[in-house]
Order: sequence, then C-alpha cells, then structure tokens
Amino acid sequence: MNILITNDDGIHAPALIPLERELSQLGRVTVVVPDRDQSATSHSLTLHRPLRIHRHDSGRFSIDGTPTDCVLIAYHGLLDHRPDLVVSGINHGPNMGEDVFYSGTVAAAIEGAMQGAPSIAASLAGREPNDFVDASHFVRRLSAEMLRRKFAGKRVLNVNLPPLPWSSILGVQLTRLGTRVYSDALIEKVDPRGRAYYWIGGQDPVWERQPGTDFSAVTEGYISVTPLALDLTDVQAVGEMRQWNLET
Ligand code: MN
Repeated sequence: MNILITNDDGIHAPALIPLERELSQLGRVTVVVPDRDQSATSHSLTLHRPLRIHRHDSGRFSIDGTPTDCVLIAYHGLLDHRPDLVVSGINHGPNMGEDVFYSGTVAAAIEGAMQGAPSIAASLAGREPNDFVDASHFVRRLSAEMLRRKFAGKRVLNVNLPPLPWSSILGVQLTRLGTRVYSDALIEKVDPRGRAYYWIGGQDPVWERQPGTDFSAVTEGYISVTPLALDLTDVQAVGEMRQWNLET
C-alpha cells in the first residue's frame, strides 16, 4: 500500500510527524509538502517560475510551491509508484462549508482524486496548540476503511475534527457542507510612503446553524466527514435554463 501525505501548512506543520507515524502502519508513506505555510492557496499551480524539490530524510520532500504543485510533482516524477491513497493535512484550522474553495488542504486532496486515488482532506477545527495524536489516529482508521471498502472514483472525504479532548468527542457524523455567514473584512492601512495597502481579514468564520452540516456536527462535538463530489455541475440550473431563449 502506497500512501502520499501532503498538506498546506508546510514541512514544519505539527501534524506531520504524528500523521506519518499512524499511516506508516498501513503502508509505505511518502511526504511531499510545501516548504512553508501555503494555507488558502486553493488549487493554484505554479507556472511562471521553476520549482525546487528539497529531499529531507527518508521519504520526505518539500517543494517551494503550492499543495497542488506537491501532488502533481509527486505523481509525475517524484514517486516510483502511484499512491493508493492521498491524505492532505491535518490542517491546523477548520475547512468547512464554502471555505473548501479557498483551502489548499482540500485542493490537494481534490488533486489526488483527479489523479485517480481516493483522497482525504483532514482538518482540526481549532487554532489552539494540539499534538494531533488522536486526530492522526482517527485519520488512520478512516484511511483503512476507505481502502478496505475500495471507495474509488474521483471522491474526496473532507474531515473536520472538533478541537476537544478525545474522551469528549461524541462520535462521527456524515455531513454536507454548511453555509458561511460572510463577515470578511478588508483592512486598509497606509505605508511609510503614504500609499494605501490592504489586509484581507476579519474574524474566524461564522456559520449558519443548519442540522446535518459539517459546522453543526463539529459544534456539537462530533467528527464531521463530508464526501465531496468533483462535479460542480448545477443539474437543477440546467433544467431551468432549458426555457431560456438562446437561439443564435
Ligand atoms: Mn492550512
């Protein structure tokens, strides 16, 4: 069994060592991650400059690129085998609802699925320091189940774990993506030469309280597992648009 670990938090992410330790019990693990924090880089590819690969100790590589670069380089050159599973994470911070569109963690898992491997994006939904040991153990159990069930196809499991002591976690819920209340802010400042500059910021995301969503599960103390489909087609819209007058 060949497992590729990637992330968007970079080679120094605290989750990397415990996750590697757990997944090594399932098979041969290769780590290919960005050389620094690449959070919120979504599915971007580096096309306008060369990429450098740094080889660390056995089976660990860092790249001066995005999470998607890491998966592509792993598949097309770095690995001498195709991964049977791609695990992205464990991200230090939530990736729920519409935020999956910004997430480098989720994008790397989607890239793994696009390349043909079942993939998991895992996130710890809190910012406090954490040893990621229990979270890594859960990701191993989910990975083993995903492989055992031959859950193939272009599918991604998006996992968010509540930042609670393991004994307080109530279980696992299969969820759908929640809806974010947008409160993003743009902060304007002035540089020493009098020109304006901006920070995209605001507080941590706020979510609508809807039952069955990732946000609700995590808030109530459950691990959320959301299966993601890669096909974004709005089938209902196609039906409605059949009435449109688009004759040329
Ligand atoms: Mn991140």
